[in-house]
Amino acid sequence: MKIRELVIASHNQGKIDEIRTMLAPYGVTVVSARDLNLPDVEETGATFKENAELKAVQLSDLSGKPCLADDSGLCVDALGGRPGVYSARYAERIEEGKVVRDFDKAIGTLVDELKQSGSADWSAHFSCVLAFKVPEQNCRFFEGRVDGKIVSERSGNQGFGFDPVFVPNGFDKTFANFSKDEKAAVSHRGRAFEQFIKEVFDAD
Ligand code: IMP
Repeated sequence: MKIRELVIASHNQGKIDEIRTMLAPYGVTVVSARDLNLPDVEETGATFKENAELKAVQLSDLSGKPCLADDSGLCVDALGGRPGVYSARYAERIEEGKVVRDFDKAIGTLVDELKQSGSADWSAHFSCVLAFKVPEQNCRFFEGRVDGKIVSERSGNQGFGFDPVFVPNGFDKTFANFSKDEKAAVSHRGRAFEQFIKEVFDAD
């Protein structure tokens, strides 16, 4: 089945930009949940996979179109895998009755928590699960992971979220110093997309 239009079940502009870059060669029109005025789906699952499925199924049902949801997060070993599925919520606070995400503050809190943990091992990984739901078909899943470490000094102004303090293994710069294409070649999301593209687009 040729996919011409794909709804991305996210309101996170950083993610949507990365996804548009990765799908650019495949002639598919990428529209976000926000473009279609679709609601933010509440992430009540206990795992990345459950949350990705919730988002893909609900937004595909609402839009009647093929929908791709990405659920991802940062898991830090010395913090027992936190913030994990709560990565986005880790950065939330209420301002004038509205939920705002403040990653500058969240990065500060993360580094403080690591210092307080007393651990010298700041190993971490990003995980990503993609859920792909086509109306009338079963949901399909694609997973990716990138290992690395958290550093105390922020650097770089690309990317989003925790990128300024995450250094992937084999590199000596944070993700916030990678271009979108460079990041896609090694990132959790890039690896999950590689599988998705192979099965959904290359198989056509
Ligand atoms: P989600 O929208 O619930 O999947 O939230 C994902 C959250 O995980 C983001 O808001 C970021 O905090 C974090 N995250 C996921 N992927 C990345 C990444 O590539 N770079 C930096 N932070 C990320």
